[in-house]
Amino acid sequence: MTTQENRSTILEYIFRHAPVARSTIAKKTQITPATVTSITGNFIQEGIIREIGSDETQGDSSPGRKKILLDIVPDRVYAMGVEFTMRHVRFLICSLRGISVFQTSALLETEVKENITEFLIHKITEILDRLPEISKSLIGIGIAVPGHIDPQQDKVTINSSTYPGFSGKELKNRLPFPIICENNVRCMAFGRYLFDKTSPETFAFFHIGLGMFCAMMKDSHLFQGTNYYAGEIGHTIVNPEGKKCECGKRGCLQTYCSETWLLKYCRLLYESNANTVLTSLKPSSEDLTIEDISKAFSLGDPQIGNYISTALKYLGITISNLAIIMNPDRIYLHCSLFSNKEISEELMDYIKQQLLFVDDPTDQTVQIVPYNPFEGPKGAAAYAIKNFYIDTI
Ligand SMILES: [Zn+2]
Repeated sequence: MTTQENRSTILEYIFRHAPVARSTIAKKTQITPATVTSITGNFIQEGIIREIGSDETQGDSSPGRKKILLDIVPDRVYAMGVEFTMRHVRFLICSLRGISVFQTSALLETEVKENITEFLIHKITEILDRLPEISKSLIGIGIAVPGHIDPQQDKVTINSSTYPGFSGKELKNRLPFPIICENNVRCMAFGRYLFDKTSPETFAFFHIGLGMFCAMMKDSHLFQGTNYYAGEIGHTIVNPEGKKCECGKRGCLQTYCSETWLLKYCRLLYESNANTVLTSLKPSSEDLTIEDISKAFSLGDPQIGNYISTALKYLGITISNLAIIMNPDRIYLHCSLFSNKEISEELMDYIKQQLLFVDDPTDQTVQIVPYNPFEGPKGAAAYAIKNFYIDTI
């Protein structure tokens, strides 16, 4: 490995495992102790890492010097993450540990969607002008996009009918910071990997929003596959006789449980004047949100209860299929509906039933991540830290 590669490997190891001793770094990364000592010494001088005391857990059993523990300097530089979805745009600036120092969001109007690149350049410039101190130590910006990036052209290759004008190249040319674009859920997975030290090196991150996607981390790397279909879990069929999906197939998972389809169903229910509690929650069907659906479920609305139970059953089957086929060390689930305890418990029950034949099923494997609307921009910031700090240090 080159010195650059050794530096990146050691720094990423410290990010993931701090506080950690030099000897542990050498053992786990298989870089010689002498090289680890030399590089960590340079890192300390450069202000990239620091010594934070000694390992007290060794007790009397290991004589000799106590091991000095190392950690990164979290506020040395900052990264920005931006996510635009079909509905919102969100901006976040965070430390190297993912602690947010600034965040804001806005609804996206149709005119803005058509000029998304100009809008992002304008907003990012405005935010950084207001924060001159942070701006000075900003290492770069990650952009989480609602689709897939063609790496050659920085074009969003899915949902391009909504964002025909998005150009990663234009952002790179016109903003005075390094920019990297990536699929929003892949960003979320990377954020989980970098900022959550309890995350394993191989895991799946399953996000359900307006659409759904499942990103895979494999041995500390984002798994890509030969094309961008890997992870398009929303288009796996759960009922061949089901409704027709946007992709042309019938009964795709997302026709049951994406927010878009859930809202579509609940608006129809509302407008059909059926006996539903939804009509008591909002003055018009257009105002309905996912929170209203969650509320209607808890209030015992029978039609919503049935609909969500079917959705959870299909989701449970898909997640257990994923566990069997890929067998990742963990499957993280991220969806605003799962903030409702009854809904998340019902889902976990379905998954457990499906995995009964496995010796040690779900409790550790499947984990619901507390819902955070800024998970996308935070992940994008993590991806910027990887590309413009860890890998280039
Ligand atoms: Zn489909």
